[in-house]
Amino acid sequence: MAKTKPGKKDLNSYTIRGTNKIVRPGDCVLMRPSDSDNLPYVARVEKFEADHRNSVKVHVRWYYRPEESKGGRRQFHGSKELFLSDHYDVQSAQTIEGKCVVHSFKNYTKLDNVGPEDYYCRFEYKTATGGFTPDRVAVYCKCEMPYNPDDLMVQCEGCADWFHPSCMGMSIDEIKKLEHFVCSDCSGEEEAKEQMNSFHVSPEAERKRRKRSG
Ligand SMILES: [Zn+2]
Ligand SMILES: [Zn+2]
Repeated sequence: MAKTKPGKKDLNSYTIRGTNKIVRPGDCVLMRPSDSDNLPYVARVEKFEADHRNSVKVHVRWYYRPEESKGGRRQFHGSKELFLSDHYDVQSAQTIEGKCVVHSFKNYTKLDNVGPEDYYCRFEYKTATGGFTPDRVAVYCKCEMPYNPDDLMVQCEGCADWFHPSCMGMSIDEIKKLEHFVCSDCSGEEEAKEQMNSFHVSPEAERKRRKRSG
């Protein structure tokens, strides 16, 4: 193979075959998998390159789906979650079948409507080690899990932490009917305050016993 690249030139854009969709370097694309039963691959375009016969190659940086990572899909991974990998590749531009948008996690959680082309990325992924950057994220709720945007959470007006209805022993319908949500820890504190401000005639143990049997 010659070391020089005769007639190769970078393109500013590429029009997806059979469409009028224009892809530019920096855009995210869906690429046809070799097995059509699989989900399309997602990649970020680094550059387009045409050879002397006008066949176009696309240089990509792959996004990995959670199931493609060494650790696999975990409970807090959303259905639209992708990891930006350190895996670069060159493919025929003809395998591009559509465009998509990979949002930052923050922007994704603010979307009013999530379309099929919307994804998000909050981790970079090292293919050699299976490691993530960042390797620590905030956790929420009693279950102390990172936020999965597919799962509804409600914010406590007391401590401002976020909770899964199921972890609070409530259904989604029950929680949606509430105008104010206060988690069990915070409502416990409120009860304690009320008790301090009021005077209970019965001894504490007696009151609890009656509550339980009633
Ligand atoms: Zn939870
Ligand atoms: Zn609370």
